[in-house]
Amino acid sequence: VSDAPLGTEERLETERIQAEGFQSEVVNADELFRFEQLPFDLIDLPATFSKFRKVVEKKPEIFPDIPQSIPDLTSSSEQPWADPSEWIEPLRTQISPETEVRTSGGEASALEHWQAYLSTRALSHYKVTRNALCGPTQSSHLSAWLAHGCISARQVWSDILDYERREGANESTYWLRFELLWREFFRWYLRASDWTLFRRRGPNGKDAGGDQNCQRFAAWSLGNTGCDIVDAAMRELNRTGWMSNRARQLVASHLVYESNLDWRLGAAYFESRLVDFDVASNWGNWAYIAGVGPDPRGGRIFNLNEQAGRYDPDQTYRKRWLQ
Ligand SMILES: Cc1cc2nc3c(=O)[nH]c(=O)nc-3n(C[C@H](O)[C@H](O)[C@H](O)COP(=O)(O)OP(=O)(O)OC[C@H]3O[C@@H](n4cnc5c(N)ncnc54)[C@H](O)[C@@H]3O)c2cc1C
Repeated sequence: VSDAPLGTEERLETERIQAEGFQSEVVNADELFRFEQLPFDLIDLPATFSKFRKVVEKKPEIFPDIPQSIPDLTSSSEQPWADPSEWIEPLRTQISPETEVRTSGGEASALEHWQAYLSTRALSHYKVTRNALCGPTQSSHLSAWLAHGCISARQVWSDILDYERREGANESTYWLRFELLWREFFRWYLRASDWTLFRRRGPNGKDAGGDQNCQRFAAWSLGNTGCDIVDAAMRELNRTGWMSNRARQLVASHLVYESNLDWRLGAAYFESRLVDFDVASNWGNWAYIAGVGPDPRGGRIFNLNEQAGRYDPDQTYRKRWLQ
């Protein structure tokens, strides 16, 4: 049993397993909505996030399924997963002590983190804090657990609704669900655009320019561009595997519009570094910023000096990672 694979390689692998005669079952557990719930075919997927959101928000019958527990499969001694250490080579990844929110795998750790976040009531201020470059409760920090399937988007959605009933709903509590809809949109967008999302010209077929110059790419990836906000963020990524959403937007803007590099170099580098790498969110966001994806404005160019002044006015973030 596996989750419906999103990436091209994973899909080909699943097809190969099926072609070799192994019995396999694919389930859709990683999206908020099941395909049958969507009021359009993939080919008619709304072209932008706003249109997608309006369609799904307008129809009360499109509602994420209530999460259910699955039967305990570990009790049978014949199951190959009875002793995972026999068939999984542990990655032994070291979590950097510099990481602001220490992420370790598994559902228990995901739930512990999520419940702790809810208990701080930071969710009630999420819309105001979510663009911060650092801070353990400025955003939910759920991305790695969501990306690895330790917690489902449906569970998070359902818990937000409970929180709203208990603590009161406001723009911030809605906004975390809004961000989960972004995640959702990119998942269906990848399915609809298939391998074209990985092309230089993206699903739009538009030429974003940029080359694959090694020196400029090395400067960007190592955090040596000379633009201090970008360099600080890249060093945070290299040392911890994480970066806030705002920082991701800024370094992506720099790679495409200032380093003049092929946007796919940035996406591939993120893929190799992020602890929360998710094929749809990563490649979808990169294509969006490069203007070859679902952005109605045709790409996002950020004024990096202005952004640094706004989000790091006393340079705390830059000093921390550039020292
Ligand atoms: C260039 C670029 C690359 C990115 N690559 C990834 C990636 O590989 N994996 C990944 O999970 N996110 C990616 N994102 C989206 C976003 O930056 C992260 O999900 C977010 O920063 C994670 O922090 P959080 O869990 O505290 O988010 P919160 O702000 O607390 O949001 C809650 C959840 O909503 C989802 N979400 C939030 N923003 C977005 C978004 N813009 N697009 C899609 N989903 C979103 C995530 O699952 C996130 O965990 C990328 C964004 C950019 C601009």
